[in-house]
Amino acid sequence: MPPLAGGAPDRAFAHQLMEMLAIPVFVLDLQCRVMLWNLACERLTGVSASEVVGTRNHWRAFFEEQRPTLADLLVEDRAEEIGRLRARPSMAARPDHGGQQGHLSAESWCDMPRMGRRRYLAADASPIHDEHGQLVAVVQTLRDLTEEKMAQVALEQLATRDGLTGLANRRCFDDTLHAEWARALRQHQPLSLLMVDVDNFKAYNDANGHLGGDECLKRIAGAVASEMRANDLVARYGGEEFAVILPNQSLKGAASVAERIRTRVEALQVPNRLAAGTHVTVSIGAATAIASHDNSASELVAIADAALYRAKHMGRNRISLPLSEPS
Ligand code: GH3
Ligand code: MG
Ligand code: MG
Repeated sequence: MPPLAGGAPDRAFAHQLMEMLAIPVFVLDLQCRVMLWNLACERLTGVSASEVVGTRNHWRAFFEEQRPTLADLLVEDRAEEIGRLRARPSMAARPDHGGQQGHLSAESWCDMPRMGRRRYLAADASPIHDEHGQLVAVVQTLRDLTEEKMAQVALEQLATRDGLTGLANRRCFDDTLHAEWARALRQHQPLSLLMVDVDNFKAYNDANGHLGGDECLKRIAGAVASEMRANDLVARYGGEEFAVILPNQSLKGAASVAERIRTRVEALQVPNRLAAGTHVTVSIGAATAIASHDNSASELVAIADAALYRAKHMGRNRISLPLSEPS
C-alpha cells in the first residue's frame, strides 16, 4: 500500500499514478529519452509506450518533421528557443507557467502523424528535481484544445468574413483600411483602393431571382479575389459592391489591377438577360493617396466612390480614375 498519509509515495506507486492519469503525460530523462509515456498519451497520439520508452523518438508522435518538444527545450536549457516555435502558425508560447520558474507552456497545432489528423495541443513542461535541487527529469502534460480552437477560429471567421462570398466583410475592410492607412503614413508609401460595383444588378436579380443573384455574386467575388496579391485585401463592401485595398500600389498599378478584374469578370460570361448575348459586368473606381496628416482613409474611399460613379455615368463596364491625383 502506498504510504500517502505518512512518508513519500514509493516509486512504483508514483509510476502507476502517472500511468492512470486521465491527462496525457510523458517524462524525459536528462538525455531526452522517454522514461514514461502514460495511457492517456498513448490514446492521444496513437503511439504506444513500448515504441517510445527508452528512445528519443517521442517527437514523431506529434510532428512530421523533427522538432523539439517543450520538454526537450527544458531538459536542454534551450527555453529561449520557444520564441522560434512561436513563429510557427498558430503557435503561442510563454516561457513561464503560473509565475513558477523553469516551467514552459505552449500551444500549437500538431501533425499527430500516427492519428492522421491535426490536433491543437496545449503543453506544459515542468522540471523534476531531486532532494538536492538537481534536475533529474522533465514532465510534460498535454491538453487537447482542438474543439475550443476550432470554435475560436469559427467565431473569428464569423466576425471577419462575409457569409455569402467568403471574402472579408465590411468590418474587416474598415479595420484593414485604417491599419494600412497608418502604415502608409509611417512608411510614406502610396495606398490604392478600388471600388467594384456590379452593373445593373437589380435587373439581374429581377430576371434570375435572389438566389440566382447570390450565385452570380459568389462567382464575381471569386473573379475579383483571383487577381489579388498576398498583401491585398478584397472585401464585400456591401450588397453588390466590393472593395479592394492595394497597399504600396501606385495609381498606375491600381488601374492595371482594376482593368484585369474588369476583364476577368467579363470573361466569366455570366449571361445577362437584359440583352441577348451580353454578360454581367462590373464598373470600377480607383483612387490612390500618399497618406499624410492632411488627408484621411475616408477621403480615399470618397475619391474611389466618385470615380466609380463616373464609370457608371460613362456607360458601365469600365474603370475610372480620379480627375486629379490627390497629394
Ligand atoms: P448600377 O449599374 O447602377 O450599379 O445598377 P444596379 O442595379 O446594380 O444598382 P442598384 O443599387 O439599383 O441595385 C443593386 C441591387 O443589388 C439591388 C439589390 O437587391 C441587389 N443586392 C444587394 N445585395 C444582394 C445580395 O446579397 N444578393 C442578391 N441576390 N442581390 C443583392
Ligand atoms: Mg450595381
Ligand atoms: Mg451598388
